[in-house]
Amino acid sequence: MFNVSRPATAPVSLAKLKKYDSGDVYQAICDIFYNKCYLCETKEPHDINVEHFRAHMGDEILKYDWNNLYFACSRCNNIKGDNYNNLLDCCNPQDNVLRAIKHLPPTTPYAKTVQIVINLDSESAKTTKDLLDKIYNSEHTINKKVSGAYLRKKIFDQYNLLLTQINSYYSPIATQEEKNTAIERIKLLINKDQPYSAFMSWCILEDEKLSQLLGETID
Ligand SMILES: [Zn+2]
Repeated sequence: MFNVSRPATAPVSLAKLKKYDSGDVYQAICDIFYNKCYLCETKEPHDINVEHFRAHMGDEILKYDWNNLYFACSRCNNIKGDNYNNLLDCCNPQDNVLRAIKHLPPTTPYAKTVQIVINLDSESAKTTKDLLDKIYNSEHTINKKVSGAYLRKKIFDQYNLLLTQINSYYSPIATQEEKNTAIERIKLLINKDQPYSAFMSWCILEDEKLSQLLGETID
């Protein structure tokens, strides 16, 4: 997961209390969430939902509350349903969602699982870990099993890009210029506007030398 900053001013259409997913809301949340699902971190997903962070269950205030509307892919929205109402909040600066949940990438293209590890002792961190585990690893339906494998493959492809740069940086024959280029490219890949940046960032945080070099730039 990745933290974002939400502007206080709500899109105007919400004031009518008729639709929570009008064009201005879509545009605003696309911008705020870098066109990424806030849960699985897929960039530019095929199917976008305006997701209620806390399930509204018919509550009109929660339904049209600007602060309750998030950018999610339909797969994550479907998995989350109404069942996870105590998650770490990526819009709350008090919740460091990246550091709270360690994301470790798949080590092969068709790895059966990725590791989601709780790093903070709180109920909301535990609930978030449970949901992310289900999103990335669950085989609870055949559809989710197949789409989960596709998702892990996409994470692996991004991880592979990162590994190429890490290998360039650590190559015994790398020139200083090549090392500098590799670091700049690693910075691009761990930026939160990039797909699966939590996985990429955790690769760096888990590396003794790169974490010293880049750890402070990761939030
Ligand atoms: Zn998603």
